[in-house]
Amino acid sequence: MKNVIQRVSRIALMVAAVGWQSSVQAHQAHPIAIALHGGAGTITKADLSESQEQAYKNALSLALNTGYQLLENGANGEDAVVAAIQIMEESALFNAGVGAVYTYNEEHELDASIMHGASRNAGAVAGVKTIKSPIAAALAVMNHSPHVMLTGEGAEQFSVEQGLAQVENSYFNTQRRLDALKKAKASLQTSVTYDHLFSADAEYKFGTVGVVVLDKAGNLVAGTSTGGMTAKRYGRVGDSPIIGAGTFADNQSCAVSATGHGEYFIRYNVAADICTRMAYQGVSLKEAADTVIHKVLKPAGGDGGIVAVDKFGNVAMPFNTEGMYRASIDAMGTQVIAIYTDEKM
Ligand code: ASP
Repeated sequence: MKNVIQRVSRIALMVAAVGWQSSVQAHQAHPIAIALHGGAGTITKADLSESQEQAYKNALSLALNTGYQLLENGANGEDAVVAAIQIMEESALFNAGVGAVYTYNEEHELDASIMHGASRNAGAVAGVKTIKSPIAAALAVMNHSPHVMLTGEGAEQFSVEQGLAQVENSYFNTQRRLDALKKAKASLQTSVTYDHLFSADAEYKFGTVGVVVLDKAGNLVAGTSTGGMTAKRYGRVGDSPIIGAGTFADNQSCAVSATGHGEYFIRYNVAADICTRMAYQGVSLKEAADTVIHKVLKPAGGDGGIVAVDKFGNVAMPFNTEGMYRASIDAMGTQVIAIYTDEKM
């Protein structure tokens, strides 16, 4: 009897070992990975009730698993990126699509971009007011136009011609963002600057969304969508639709989506800088991303963070603010859903 039990457990161990090996090999043959953010900023445990925290984590988890399942089924990276971003664009929790922040004139002007790492093809829209899903419009620019970035009315006309859903600008309205606008405008009438609002005011959280993936074909894709900055004026455009600043992908190095104070991300070319460091210096994704976010951006005064994935399916999600809504599944299948600093990997 004892022998039988020993034999059975030996076989069980062998089966388990083979199963484990084949799942590692399966991962290695066609590794897939996904990482996403829902914005970085002054987010502490004290700012969120338990139910708010749960709502964010549920939304992150839904976007994450939607994207991951598409990748598992062999979908293109760009389709996984767009599907995951659209879940967050449709959620009022994030500053993208519904729930986008207000401009100074009490409207919404949305920005989005997407980049494919095989061809370095890219598409972006900026300052659009009536396109229901800005990330879908960015994808259409990438796939169906000879251009990289379309702005304002031209982008809207193109998206109509592409058959994309159009909405009234009020479709993006939420009371919470209107209250934030009123508060920001009152502060800006005193000596408070935009820089101060971005770095210090707990009410003035970010909430841009972004997704990066490695698909089964080995392609890296990055996408970002945002309402930009509360109380922005004069057609201000941030980093999110700017290839190299808020979004970048190159199959030889990495895919990056950024969130934070866009003016700094533009000036420091953050997303491209991370990938370029990997390519030219031969450093790991983690090292390149940590260096840019903590040692370059932070000393310069730039608040925010990024999510990134490399060609092996490694994930990095550094940020230099108090929190960043983030989630990932790397090539080994390890899942992370987190908000605060102390939940850092
Ligand atoms: N980066 C965005 C912008 O400056 C804002 C954000 O990430 O929250 O438009």
